[in-house]
Amino acid sequence: MIIYKSTRGGDEAKKSTEAIIQGIAKNKGLFVPDGIPLLSFKPEQKIGMPYQYAAFHVMKSFLPEFTEEELERCVVGAYDSKFETPDVVSVVKTEKAYFLELYHGRTAAFKDMALSILPYLLTMAMKKEKESKRIVILTATSGDTGKAALEGFSDVLGTEIIVFYPKDGVSLVQERQMTTQNGKNTHVFAIEGNFDDAQAGVKRIFNDEAFAAEAAARGYRLSSANSINIGRLVPQIVYYVYAYIKLLETGALSAGEPMNAVVPTGNFGNILAAYYAKRMGIPIRKFICASNRNNVLTDFINTGVYDANRAFYVTNSPSMDILISGNLERLLYHLSDGDSAEIAALMADLDNNGRYSVSDRIRRGLADFYGGFCNPQETLDAIGRLYASENYLMDTHTAVAYSVYEEYLRDTGDRTPAVIVSTASAYKFADSAADALCVDAGGDGFANIAALHEKTGVNIPSALKNLENKEIRHRGVVSADKMTDAVRDSLK
Ligand SMILES: *Cc1c(COP(=O)(O)O)cnc(C)c1O
Repeated sequence: MIIYKSTRGGDEAKKSTEAIIQGIAKNKGLFVPDGIPLLSFKPEQKIGMPYQYAAFHVMKSFLPEFTEEELERCVVGAYDSKFETPDVVSVVKTEKAYFLELYHGRTAAFKDMALSILPYLLTMAMKKEKESKRIVILTATSGDTGKAALEGFSDVLGTEIIVFYPKDGVSLVQERQMTTQNGKNTHVFAIEGNFDDAQAGVKRIFNDEAFAAEAAARGYRLSSANSINIGRLVPQIVYYVYAYIKLLETGALSAGEPMNAVVPTGNFGNILAAYYAKRMGIPIRKFICASNRNNVLTDFINTGVYDANRAFYVTNSPSMDILISGNLERLLYHLSDGDSAEIAALMADLDNNGRYSVSDRIRRGLADFYGGFCNPQETLDAIGRLYASENYLMDTHTAVAYSVYEEYLRDTGDRTPAVIVSTASAYKFADSAADALCVDAGGDGFANIAALHEKTGVNIPSALKNLENKEIRHRGVVSADKMTDAVRDSLK
């Protein structure tokens, strides 16, 4: 049976249910499985299988405490008609690559893939562990996690959800999605700072033992919906398995042939899930890690030195405006063969000096990764170029991946069929997409949703229709050092 341990060592050993409830390990490390299970089936024998089936089988091996009936209930509840495409996700062929569209859920970003099931997993885990406290989901967001978590946890019994987003670091649509959120248990705050400040603040609250005791005395227990929670990570492995089987089905690949995965990357959760899929047996040759102008990961992959001491840029792919990629810690752990002392030392370097340099062993493991980045103008150019040539509309994050993939092709000539992970609807970043297609309507930004629709005919996700007329319910703005007070006030 799989047990979850901390990337930073110590003897904490948790069942999957406990790890999901707790979120992060006591010594601030992330929970990692003590072994990565192999797929329980051969991909080529599962051609045509529904997404829900893949989800059930992949997740089962990581979550052994859940009975089949329980897991089935979670999967069926999460992946239903909330998703506006019949197969939950879509695989779309273009000339250079296959786009794996993960944004057909309730909030029009790929975060829905995990956050539509996390509330089911968490409430099930609470029941199984006889957890009687109200769980408080604390979430830092660069824009998309927050809304997906709010939507997932809104009015879920036994939970409160509190979201912090960077005040000037999200798109108008993203902000309005969050500030109009319904649900008696939802709390949303803008913070004066960037995503890294929000994430650091949330981590600080988690590590504040006095506050945990105070909350416990009032009947609350803190947990996380960020991708540090294994209940977020595990559901993300599924779509890589599913995509591979789709490529077998279309004949793009024969059994056993490899694919490449191109992932627009911020906190490193999505691409880490691709790595887990490979460890489970999906043949992925290269992990192409695409960053925006905040290119700390590109430099890391190329040099083995992670250095967050650099300017932070607000870009047109805001969900990737991140300098501290939390989930990289898990990859380092696996590439070091589970050397938790090494990981603890690296993370201490990061805390103290904002940088670290990895061992040769980890560097050798990084050979499967290709790092690239592009700036905001190149992002818009990529959207314009692909739309002009193939009428295919990308959002800015996916466009970063596409642009980096084009560079990868020029650089390497590697013609391995590639899946580009498409992480958001272009309508979420309508201003940028309208700009890229030269149909910018000006105004308050919502006009660009209409302009984009007029130009492309691409369906507007129902979540984004009429957004500008919804009542704003959350107006709190706090400084980054007052986040604890905001949490305290929310838990009345
Ligand atoms: C969160 C997000 C990303 C980055 O994903 P990570 O798992 O944080 O690396 C990319 N694109 C969009 C649209 C996102 O919301």
